[in-house]
Amino acid sequence: MTNIGGSGEEVSPGKLYLVATPIGNLQDLSPRVAQTLAEVDYIAAEDTRELQKLLNHLSLKKSVLSYHHHNRQKATQQLLQLLHRGKSIALVSDAGMPLISDPGEELVAAVWEQGLPLTVIPGPSAGLTALTLSGFSCNRFVFEGFLPTGEAKRRLRLLALQGEERSCIIYEAPHRLAQTMQDLVSYLGGERRGIIARELTKIYEEVVQGSLADLQQHLAQTPPRGEYVLVIAGAEEVEPPAMSDTEAQEQYRELVAAGWTRRDALKEAARRSGIGRDRLYQILQEQSP
Ligand code: SAM
Repeated sequence: MTNIGGSGEEVSPGKLYLVATPIGNLQDLSPRVAQTLAEVDYIAAEDTRELQKLLNHLSLKKSVLSYHHHNRQKATQQLLQLLHRGKSIALVSDAGMPLISDPGEELVAAVWEQGLPLTVIPGPSAGLTALTLSGFSCNRFVFEGFLPTGEAKRRLRLLALQGEERSCIIYEAPHRLAQTMQDLVSYLGGERRGIIARELTKIYEEVVQGSLADLQQHLAQTPPRGEYVLVIAGAEEVEPPAMSDTEAQEQYRELVAAGWTRRDALKEAARRSGIGRDRLYQILQEQSP
């Protein structure tokens, strides 16, 4: 798509680059990231001082714009205008992949809406880095990000995680970690397994695996310092019943008709159907005249 620039001549729109930056180790900065940051007209950054450290490391001097949670609406309009004027822009967050628990959603949605070109220069993200190390299933997982701090919303999320069969990635600030672990133990049970991944890719990287109760104890002994990701193992898969309620009742009646005692028939029909003895008993009670 093209648009008309101020001079009346046609200007091809600039591209938006979503650029990942290291999560703590500058060696993780890829040559493609360095090249993109060197070549774009502008860099939009969540924290311009953080970006400056990266630019110093790369010996780059760039035009830098601020794009953060609080100015995101105004900044989105400003960046869209620049893109329409043919300027290329890299969006970076403080660390890791932009948009992942970081600003950028409004901008990317608007870029799609306006049919402007965009691409991503991928790199590390704390959540996937922790998940890979966790020892839990990486084929199916949920990214929870930061749990809500408001009581009602937090409770609903924690309840939803009780039966969640996929591994779950949670970000947390150090000063809230103990409370979050306490909530996880209360809602998911101390037996559920998890990891605490601290300072990933940095000098003091540390990953501890254990039951949530163990992890809670670990936190009580080591006051949190640095950045943390929690990964929680999924709940045990619940096998779906092999039979419907009606089929299970039929099984029971057939067994009784074949001479089984009611007690044994109940036990056997519950086993075959996968429904559970208490539930089948309840169904039979409800059906009996
Ligand atoms: N965009 C980032 C990403 O792709 O991972 C996440 C940004 S979010 C605002 C910051 C949170 O990510 C931290 O509070 C922490 O939970 C997690 N995090 C970032 N870097 C980390 C690291 N090196 N080790 C452990 N956790 C990290």
